[in-house]
Amino acid sequence: MKILTIIGARPQFIKASVVTKAIAEYPSLNEVIIHTGQHFDRNMSDIFFEQLNIPKPNYQLDINSSFHGEMTGRMLTEIERVILLEKPDRVLVYGDTNSTLAGALAAAKLQVPVAHIEAGLRSFNMDMPEEINRILTDQISNILFCPTQTAVNNLVREGFEHKSTEILNVGDVMLDSTLMFAELATPIENFDFGFVLATFHRAENTDDPVRLAEIVNALNEIHKTIAKVVLPLHPRTRDAIANVGLKLDVHIIEPVGYLEMIWLLKCCELVLTDSGGLQKEAFFFSKACVTMRDQTEWIELVELGANELAGANKDKIISATFRHIGRYIEDTNMLYGGGKAANRIAKRLNKG
Ligand code: UDP
Repeated sequence: MKILTIIGARPQFIKASVVTKAIAEYPSLNEVIIHTGQHFDRNMSDIFFEQLNIPKPNYQLDINSSFHGEMTGRMLTEIERVILLEKPDRVLVYGDTNSTLAGALAAAKLQVPVAHIEAGLRSFNMDMPEEINRILTDQISNILFCPTQTAVNNLVREGFEHKSTEILNVGDVMLDSTLMFAELATPIENFDFGFVLATFHRAENTDDPVRLAEIVNALNEIHKTIAKVVLPLHPRTRDAIANVGLKLDVHIIEPVGYLEMIWLLKCCELVLTDSGGLQKEAFFFSKACVTMRDQTEWIELVELGANELAGANKDKIISATFRHIGRYIEDTNMLYGGGKAANRIAKRLNKG
């Protein structure tokens, strides 16, 4: 059976690394990979294929224009072409990016069944491009692989249980990735322990000058008065900060590979982020997380007290950092499927 996998952004490479290996365990499954090119810098793309041993994509599309419509439209055209050529039995998409939506839409229009990994997540904020992508992708998928019970509940609330769509709570493939690669954590030279690990790149923060200034000022203040802030700077954030003329006074590094990121997660005292993946990775490494957003799809971590939503509010970000820095989060094995999500997904795909 031929599975056509569509990936294009950093978190998708990390998720696909474990699923691709699980699929390869089944001789009857033949995976063909399209890389849309949504992320293309060496340290946002190639390094993950090398470090995580992901097979070289069969198709490299190089589509990365800055406008959502143009990017999604070009991907739709190119993915449709590949589907017509490859005639896959199923298309596999991950998460909530433009690559996810374009892949699902191209397949659904050609009546190729779609499986969606990380289905059912909701922020309930339709201003987020990710929320639009994930809701539409769920609507046109045939198998919804959910990472949590919360995600399943969201789908049930939206009436999915009355459709023929298959909903499976398989757990989160990001936990699988963490467990698979944790031992390979790669140190970054000349780094002392005791730092706050920060990342931010969501459009809601980078494209709004007021939110951007609040976050930049909060990070500068934390770096000056609480603990060193280490920030692997996302290209979108770098450009947005340069455009509005703000100055970051923290320890900035280039985006790092996943193995270096795991090392930073192991060594830090707190994670400060607007990333979806980092909120869970903080938890996997027993660190608290302060999330610089107004909502999160990973609400169970907020309910557990492991994650606090601070929005893009300078005072809230600083006071939450004070409260959570250095905390050790216990019982981190009880959520997210115990590291077997990729196996469950491959097993289900093998059934046809
Ligand atoms: N990540 C990485 N290097 C970095 C920043 C992030 O390897 O410099 C990893 C991070 O550990 C997580 C994933 O990228 O596994 C999250 O990606 P991102 O924050 O870009 O996207 P999101 O999870 O918000 O969709």
